[in-house]
Amino acid sequence: MLIVMRHGATRDEVDKVVSVIQEMGYQARPMPGVQRMAVGLVGNDGRVDASRLEGLPGVQEVIHVTKPYKQVSREWKNEPTIVRLAGGVAVGGTEVVAIAGPCSVESERQIVEAARQVKEAGAVILRGGAWKPRSSPYSFQGLGKPGLRLLAKAREETGLLVCTEAMDENGLGWVAEMADIVQIGARNMQNFSLLKLAGRCGKPVLLKRGISATVTELLLSAEYLLAEGNHEVILCERGVRSFDTATRNLFDLTVIPVVHKLSHLPIIADPSHGTGLRDKVIPMARAAVAAGADGIIVEVHPNPEEALSDGAQSLYPDQFMQLMREVRIIAEAIGRRVAEPAAVSA
Ligand code: PEP
Ligand code: MN
Repeated sequence: MLIVMRHGATRDEVDKVVSVIQEMGYQARPMPGVQRMAVGLVGNDGRVDASRLEGLPGVQEVIHVTKPYKQVSREWKNEPTIVRLAGGVAVGGTEVVAIAGPCSVESERQIVEAARQVKEAGAVILRGGAWKPRSSPYSFQGLGKPGLRLLAKAREETGLLVCTEAMDENGLGWVAEMADIVQIGARNMQNFSLLKLAGRCGKPVLLKRGISATVTELLLSAEYLLAEGNHEVILCERGVRSFDTATRNLFDLTVIPVVHKLSHLPIIADPSHGTGLRDKVIPMARAAVAAGADGIIVEVHPNPEEALSDGAQSLYPDQFMQLMREVRIIAEAIGRRVAEPAAVSA
């Protein structure tokens, strides 16, 4: 529930609303806004009797949030959330942000080379997993902590920001210390204890849609992050499992406008996992930007044949370069522009 205060409501009036909410046994979240001051009521599971609040001085109206997720909904906050990162990179504004790099960090040489290549093409954030959620326990599991050090090195060399996955509690601490964005992968989208920790990790979170998660489930998982105080959340469509084996997943681009309608959070698209096929990544990345995605996350490897994971869906660097050229034109056609990397810092 959202208690919207009158324009010019006094501090005392707001404080009174907060204390009544607390007396009712809920938590209050004062939200100073550009247009209006509001106080959010959280902690309820079902409809709350608003009569005590409606009559308080300074209260203009009480809005019942009808969705099961609250703080991530447009009813709660109408203006889009812009996640601001170092170096002026902003996700969720007019700029379309490109995150690119290999599926996994494999060696210093590989990740630094990939970072240089994706930066040259126009990515502003480097991706690469140090811990990998693999279907088979015999597949490459990632370099672990040393992988994080290599990502830090690649960041130092190129000035790119770093987005990397945390799979468990220990990893989360290390990833949050080092990365600019903590990725919670599809398989962990409903790992609620990990989400609670990520909600307190102090870094922006990229939350990927679960392999067969509905939009409501995705938004409820994001709600866990906001409920813990982390408002810097970027959602990601990465395809869902379908009956059709023609592609690795069914890349569900409709989710982009659907989420934009339901939530103020930014949403980016991952055509690499969404399709699983190199030659499908390019058209679907273009389509994602055309559909209004706030960014794309694309797997690019200096030498995809030798990749230790997801080589078949990884672009060659020159393909990524071409994709970025096309994406710039598409972004402009819809009144946006692609965020450009800062000048090479090293
Ligand atoms: C990844 O980004 O490499 C990854 C494992 O993604 P997802 O969690 O979407 O499968
Ligand atoms: Mn991958």
